[in-house]
Amino acid sequence: MKAFKYIGKENYELTTEEIPKIKTENDVIVKITIASICTSDIHIIKGKVPRAKEGIILGHEGVGIVTEIGKNIKKLKINDHVTINCITFCGECYYCKKGYINNCEKGGWEIGCRINGTLSEYVRIPYGDYSLNKIPNNIKDIDALLVGDVLSSGYFGCDLCNVKENDIVAIIGAGPVGICSMLCCKMRNAKIISIDIKDECLEFAKKNNYADYYFNPNKCDIVKCVLDVSNGRGADCVIEDAGGENTFEMAWKIARANAIVALVGMYEKDQIFPLPQMYGKNLVFKTGGVDAVHCDELLNMIQENKISTNQLITHTMPLSKCKDAFELFRNKNEFCIKIAITVD
Ligand SMILES: [Zn+2]
Ligand SMILES: [Zn+2]
Repeated sequence: MKAFKYIGKENYELTTEEIPKIKTENDVIVKITIASICTSDIHIIKGKVPRAKEGIILGHEGVGIVTEIGKNIKKLKINDHVTINCITFCGECYYCKKGYINNCEKGGWEIGCRINGTLSEYVRIPYGDYSLNKIPNNIKDIDALLVGDVLSSGYFGCDLCNVKENDIVAIIGAGPVGICSMLCCKMRNAKIISIDIKDECLEFAKKNNYADYYFNPNKCDIVKCVLDVSNGRGADCVIEDAGGENTFEMAWKIARANAIVALVGMYEKDQIFPLPQMYGKNLVFKTGGVDAVHCDELLNMIQENKISTNQLITHTMPLSKCKDAFELFRNKNEFCIKIAITVD
């Protein structure tokens, strides 16, 4: 089978590999129909993810068809269409039972990082009963492509902030995860402030009506802008999906007193936590690392037409052109939110 492999830092190729086999009784083999490229894949090929193993097949987003199941698999059957969770989890350990699947004692982010991933014709998924979700019959594979990673991350921010109707939610970052946070907050009838330093991302969000206000902090006084649209108080909730140089500082500064600030973005550097300046603001901070535990709920929302992530897929390319797709996603020579990689 064809697969897209991380060979080492700045070295990645389409290769020919053996079709994976069932290794344990909890495994499921999935024939991929569509996969996608994530910013984390770019971090891996740059050599910035120390836990990523050289020689693995990349990709942790994907949908496909079950072709083989281990003896312990109870929820899935051959030919079921499934969405793949970016997190492999056992469903039974201390953390899994509490819903904190990102901290599963036997799993975590494994696929496309420490074990072979989804940018391939077939993939072996451990703990398939938990790490896969059956796609309802009337949903197309493409409609469910982003459920297991980007949409789950976007929803995670919304959930951490406990967003309610009429809340004013500032969402920093209008990339794939930021857009998904906007979609989820919109579903809860919140007022949304979209913040990004890239005008083309704000324009894309505006064109699709994802938010109520759009601000580029490089072109305005962002604290003042947010105060102006929040009765002078600041945002009720802040979802930080960017993980940029100054976005942590921005997040707590635009929050109103007693707000929840959810830090979903991944920072490359340590951040300064100026407690004397924050004193009296009584903020609640929640930190990221997605617990993608709501995939069935998200699939239901898609089925009920409450949410759709299809607009995020700006490009579709076949697995044979995966290297070109990586270059495009990495260099963004043209406007690109998500690339769907089709596998036949
Ligand atoms: Zn990802
Ligand atoms: Zn577990």
